[in-house]
Amino acid sequence: MLWLAFGPFHAMENQVLVIRIKIPNRGAVDWTVNSGPQLLFRDVLDVIGQVLPEATTTAFEYEDEDGDRITVRSDEEMKAMLSYYYSTVMEQQVNGQLIEPLQIFPRACKPPGERNIHGLKVNTRAGPSQHNSPAVSDALPSNSLKKSSAELKKILANGQMNEQDIRYRDTLGHGNGGTVYKAYHVPSGKILAVKVILLDITLELQKQIMSELEILYKCDSSYIIGFYGAFFVENRISICTEFMDGGSLDVYRKIPEHVLGRIAIAVVKGLTYLWSLKILHRDVKPSNMLVNTRGQVKLCDFGVSTQLVNSIAKTYVGTNAYMAPERISGEQYGIHSDVWSLGISFMEPLQLLQCIVDEDSPVLPVGEFSEPFVHFITQCMRKQPKERPAPEELMGHPFIVQFNDGNATVVSMWVCRALEERRSQQGPP
Ligand code: ATP
Ligand code: MG
Repeated sequence: MLWLAFGPFHAMENQVLVIRIKIPNRGAVDWTVNSGPQLLFRDVLDVIGQVLPEATTTAFEYEDEDGDRITVRSDEEMKAMLSYYYSTVMEQQVNGQLIEPLQIFPRACKPPGERNIHGLKVNTRAGPSQHNSPAVSDALPSNSLKKSSAELKKILANGQMNEQDIRYRDTLGHGNGGTVYKAYHVPSGKILAVKVILLDITLELQKQIMSELEILYKCDSSYIIGFYGAFFVENRISICTEFMDGGSLDVYRKIPEHVLGRIAIAVVKGLTYLWSLKILHRDVKPSNMLVNTRGQVKLCDFGVSTQLVNSIAKTYVGTNAYMAPERISGEQYGIHSDVWSLGISFMEPLQLLQCIVDEDSPVLPVGEFSEPFVHFITQCMRKQPKERPAPEELMGHPFIVQFNDGNATVVSMWVCRALEERRSQQGPP
């Protein structure tokens, strides 16, 4: 009887309904229901009870378009949820998009522990049993969705990340290639930074980029931004990384030398790590050096995917103030070019201007900065690439050595103070 109440949605009565039951920290179980609109609240609780037998579940939640959680405790609320869900399905159909399962989040239940729930069979009254078998999914579309689309999505959805699980919040900044958002990853509860880049490229190139990005999973250094995954949706790629609450160095003014020293050592260690993996950064600059209130300093936006770099370069052609002279004049790019950018990143904008005007490399004013610091920057910015320090020379430089004490508190206190100052200048939100 219940489906009659759906009015405009009654066309959906024969539609297969896939309910994705999200399990805290454990992915999801997909449950295919043949007669969705006739489904009762207690049917759903029954299935949840079989998926999470250790927990007593009395309610569950779903998310509206703003990512707000809405609780379902009765048939009436189920009706509202299904009605909302079918309206999103209609929208997806109209837009020719993949039909996404209905995601629900069991409430008041304990984590399921280490039990293996693979292959679990559940029978309910809502339809023939073979259609009611939840199957563990890692947030990929269930078999009931079109296979070709599912396969395509699997190729394009690298790792655990996908669009449906992400709630975009603030914009962190715009670059030449795209926009970076602070976002919430619903299944893990993690805050992420998601860089979204518009790319009008073929499916072949998309696949190539995804495979080139694979190496990011292997990057494991506390000086390199954590990578959570990437995926394509239509003509845009989203790259999900660790969120750094101090933002990038470009927004900080007048960094005292004892702080800068600790930042420089982290940057040198991050670069040395990348070089050891035969990765050139290619975009060393303050906006790609991130800090957090724990005092960590991490590099981001390094060029692991040649195809991604090329595809972005098609829409943006240009140079920036941090590029080494040999790069600007189109000569070979190597580790030395990253070293130049490292040196120039730690100079003040005023000295950068001098760099553009002068024939000679800019130098830091002696007297204002320590002798080792001036020497370090001067060496990094030798016009001849081969004269610049090699990775091991960078690590052994007196300026770097003196700050290699693993003291994160210095950077942490400085980031916290700077954020506090910024907040007090901005006033209450
Ligand atoms: P370009 O496009 O030339 O590389 P950019 O580095 O300034 O310039 P984006 O990489 O798009 O541009 O980044 C925009 C801004 O987003 C950065 O300046 C930085 O402040 C912020 N940002 C980027 N990644 C993160 C992150 N993981 N955590 C916090 N903030 C970030
Ligand atoms: Mg950047």
